[in-house]
Amino acid sequence: MTIAPPELPTELREDLHELYRHLHGTPELSMQEHATAELIRQRMETLGCETFLCGGTGVVAVLRNGEGPVVGFRADTDGLPVAEATGLDYASTARGVMPDGAEVPVMHACGHDTHITCAIGAAAILAADRDTWAGTVVFLFQPGEETAEGALAMLRDGLWERTPRPEVVYGQHVWPGRAGQIEISTGPAMAMSDGWRVTVHGRGGHGSRPEDTIDPVVLAAHMVVRIQSIVSREVPAQQSAVVTIATFHAGLKENIIPATAEFTVNVRNLDVGVREKVLGGLRRVIRAEAEASGAPEPEIEEIYTFPLLVNHPAETAAITTVLKGVLGEENVLDRPAQMGSEDFGHLPDAIGVPGVYWFFGGTPAERVDSDEPVPTNHSPFFAPAMEPTLTTGTAAAVAAIMSRVGTHR
Ligand code: ZN
Ligand code: ZN
Repeated sequence: MTIAPPELPTELREDLHELYRHLHGTPELSMQEHATAELIRQRMETLGCETFLCGGTGVVAVLRNGEGPVVGFRADTDGLPVAEATGLDYASTARGVMPDGAEVPVMHACGHDTHITCAIGAAAILAADRDTWAGTVVFLFQPGEETAEGALAMLRDGLWERTPRPEVVYGQHVWPGRAGQIEISTGPAMAMSDGWRVTVHGRGGHGSRPEDTIDPVVLAAHMVVRIQSIVSREVPAQQSAVVTIATFHAGLKENIIPATAEFTVNVRNLDVGVREKVLGGLRRVIRAEAEASGAPEPEIEEIYTFPLLVNHPAETAAITTVLKGVLGEENVLDRPAQMGSEDFGHLPDAIGVPGVYWFFGGTPAERVDSDEPVPTNHSPFFAPAMEPTLTTGTAAAVAAIMSRVGTHR
């Protein structure tokens, strides 16, 4: 049976389009979402929510509607340092300042503006329809997803001590799939990710006299090569891991052996045991290669950690049924686990409640069906079509929340 995609009331739909255009044109960098947070607060207070800032630029908005279950819904809010090249009439020309002081163009290149719009749309529908449900919805507008800072910042700022604790937390992300469709994984959905910066100390000197030095370039190069064998030789073939070394910096001149070399490592896993094994292997190789060169122990700085995002199986099955009922059987698809990462998992994990997170498509069907490649998230060309993307994301959020709150007496 095909069910017609839900329609939003015309006035709300037009309002959300205007909101989306505004948000798209005014993106802010991670943990600097000040104007975005202010706009969200105003909007959510107008809808009757209690709001407070949490974790710097995070906004918590609590929609109370009598006795009943508490449900959490998270939308992330940050933009990326990308120069928008979509050619849209509402394209961003915003600029921002990175933590290192560099001035950069800013774009909602990951589509978090759709997340904010859909969450506000869902709140508008729930606020206007108070007779049909009972309970409390806690909307979490989370900053700094791209840098893995935001969820932890909200938790450190006492998130769950300052708001009713939900029984379940939902989240969603736009991606280049078919607009109008949802994809959802059961169990592990997105990978854990660890970022390390490794500083290798040697002893610098003249390029003509390597015997007086400990060459950190040769030493770090051995580390980089040997690290490649951790996945191929230590991780069982049935399990998966990715280890990528994407930066390597050392030295300034061809006849000076530098004192240090520095590289960064990115590790991704879908299993806690594999993560421990890979990270243990990394530490062992880094230390042992330094010792093999007679160098001091290298410094390892943990830059970030993204948690494993696990979709609770029973809750996911329930939500899948609900979404199929709203969007149509053929518009809710199974999705394999991704090696991409998200910090959403911290929010439900911190209070031991289930989380469910799904993807909604942003690409018109005719574009998906053409041979032309579709720009992905983080591309300067990433441009979700406003419809049916925003209607789908809003309808999915409302359906999920409504399926868990109580029925009004
Ligand atoms: Zn994102
Ligand atoms: Zn992203």
